[in-house]
Amino acid sequence: AIEFQHVRKDFTGQTILKDLNLTIPADEIFVLVGPSGSGKTTTLKMINRLEEPTDGTITFFGRPVAAYPLQELRWSIGYVLQHIALFPNMTVAENIAVIPEMKKMPRDRLRARTEELLAAVDLPAKTYADRYPDALSGGEAQRVGIVRALAADPGVILMDEPFSALDPISRTQLQDLILRLQSKLHKTIVFVTHDMQEAVKVGDRIAVMHNGVILQVGTPAEIRQHPAAAFVADFFAGAE
Ligand code: ATP
Repeated sequence: AIEFQHVRKDFTGQTILKDLNLTIPADEIFVLVGPSGSGKTTTLKMINRLEEPTDGTITFFGRPVAAYPLQELRWSIGYVLQHIALFPNMTVAENIAVIPEMKKMPRDRLRARTEELLAAVDLPAKTYADRYPDALSGGEAQRVGIVRALAADPGVILMDEPFSALDPISRTQLQDLILRLQSKLHKTIVFVTHDMQEAVKVGDRIAVMHNGVILQVGTPAEIRQHPAAAFVADFFAGAE
């Protein structure tokens, strides 16, 4: 599990996360959902130490994140962003290879894994491996981003609004795709979105955030049946 214990985060003297306590179980899709500015991205970035908490502890599978060598921590965690920054001067296969090569994954295994993962996201290697990013659609680039995050086989994937820049059809396709992949891979996925409908669809468990506070954590069904606050009920109603 990934655990937050009494985590506070201040930016320039202003507290944006207050006494955050959260347990993210292994092998599930855990969604942080809430309106813009509620603190989702900052929460996510404290897991891979792109941000440091002002106070409190974040534990990553039994050990505080601050106690890991940074490289070991980052190598255990894949990261997918809203706008995938693929290297424009590298092909799809070369982009996917960056981290596995740093980790010295044997070439044969890397090739096999790249083919397998590209096939799993419906981008056959034969057609796509040697393409450059400027020849990909937005949805295709996001799929490559997902493959890149998975290539070195991290146990944990952080996804920050991964589908929010896509058109509605591509978005639905990628939501289905991530559920399909997860049914095989069983990764620990922390997924940030401002869209409650998306949260309910992809999340095994959801944490609803508002103004730097977690209002409720539960399965989609639990939250639907027993919203803990009017804000949660309204936010949920907007998704149906
Ligand atoms: P969004 O969906 O808009 O990205 P979010 O829920 O992910 O919102 P955060 O990005 O975590 O929210 O931001 C939470 C608050 O912290 C916001 O008020 C933001 O302005 C502030 N904030 C984030 N990063 C910094 C920073 N580096 N310096 C100062 N303030 C920051």
